[in-house]
This record gives sequence, structure tokens and C-alpha cells, in this order.
Amino acid sequence: MIHDNVKSVRQKIANACEKVGRNADDVELVCVTKEVSIDEIKEALDAGVQILGENRVKDALSKYKAIGGRQEWHFIGHLQTNKVKDAVRIFSLIHSVDSLRLAKEIDKAAQAINKAQDILIQVNTSGEKTKFGIMPEEAIDFMKEISSYGNINTKGLMTIAPEVDDPEKVRPYFRALRELRDKINELRYSAKQSEASSKGTKYEIRILSMGMTNDFEVAIEEGANMVRIGKAIFRGN
Ligand SMILES: *Cc1c(COP(=O)(O)O)cnc(C)c1O
Repeated sequence: MIHDNVKSVRQKIANACEKVGRNADDVELVCVTKEVSIDEIKEALDAGVQILGENRVKDALSKYKAIGGRQEWHFIGHLQTNKVKDAVRIFSLIHSVDSLRLAKEIDKAAQAINKAQDILIQVNTSGEKTKFGIMPEEAIDFMKEISSYGNINTKGLMTIAPEVDDPEKVRPYFRALRELRDKINELRYSAKQSEASSKGTKYEIRILSMGMTNDFEVAIEEGANMVRIGKAIFRGN
């Protein structure tokens, strides 16, 4: 069943891409494995998923032990600073950096193991009080500040849309994230970006991590190039 579900998700990704003239290869699938058993994860891996997304460090550590590090592990949940050391050890991408304090801790932990940690900045595009993430208007200053941290590489932005019955209702939040990324790239505000442009090279943040089971097609239409999907793979809806 998981096999068929992965296939059907990939097909839906391809269809959404086709609708807006994008290449399906541009969209990376993060298979969200929270509250999913090791056997189910193995089935998903057999079906070809290459990135696993976890929202709890403790669960991820035990799964990592059982499954190993051959595939990529992404962290997608709210990260507490006391879990940063473990997180930096196993995750190739942390989607959910939402404070300078957290970014500093990640930088420190990455430096200690001589790693450049890839991260995304989580943006609260809907402004809901219950959601983590920096506010869109803080993003430029935030990027400026963390671009000076030596062991962090900012690869893009992430957002979680509000839960709604009709995914069309959250289209504006996805669009806002894309526009924010484009604005950041245009301004070349960060030390890394101006350094790169003075050398005639490009430093861009590219990743837009947005879209889950209920809304990934709309997210892709608005430019998502990384979708985080759990239910559609493991529960089939
Ligand atoms: C659970 C979760 C997902 C996956 O949601 P589904 O509805 O199961 O596809 C994606 N992103 C985050 C941050 C999550 O916590």
C-alpha cells in the first residue's frame, strides 16, 4: 500500500508541475515519518523515497540507529536548543530555524564537529499566533544577521500553512513565501551574497519548503521545490 501511495504522490507532484509548466525533477519529496514504525519507513524507502522528515529529535535518533544514515534526514519540527547537538549530528537540513538564539546554538554545535549545517528559515506567513516562525517583515534582518554565522548555510525558506478545508485558501501564504525568497535574492543583502556577487558568482537561497498532504499541489503551483508529506504516504489520504 505504501508503495502505491508513494507512486500516487509522485504522480500528483508531476501533474501539479505540468499544470504550471514546471519540471517534476525540481520538486523534492520529504517523506514525513513522525509516529510511523520502522517497518513502514523501510517500505517507503523501498518505494524510492530518499529523504525522511522527523519532527522530534529523540524519535529520529532511535530510527536513525535502526535504519542508518544512507538516506537523508531532515528536521521539520520545532527545535529546542538543548536538542541542537544531536540534531546537528544526524540531520542534513534543518527546516525550522525560527530564532537567532537557535541559529547561534546550531552554529556553535556545527562548529564543534566541523560541519557546515544547512538550514531553512521558518516563516510564519499566515501570522497565526499558534505557529512558530519569524514574521515575514523580519526576514531580511534575520538573514543579514545569520549570514555572518560561519557554520550555517541558509538554503531557503519554510512555511506551514493553516489547516483549512479548501487548499485554495492557503495559496496566498505560499505565494508570499516565494515572493519573500525572490526579494531576498534580489536585494543581495547578506554578507555571503554581496561577497559572491563581487566575485561575479551567485549566492542564492533556492529552497521553498512548503506543502503537506492537504495542500502540496497548490504549494507546487506557487513554486514549492520541497514538499513534506506524511499522511498521503502512510495513511493514503
Ligand atoms: C506532520 C508534518 C508534515 C506532514 O503532514 P501530513 O499532513 O502528514 O502530510 C509536514 N510538515 C510538518 C512541519 C509536519 O509537522
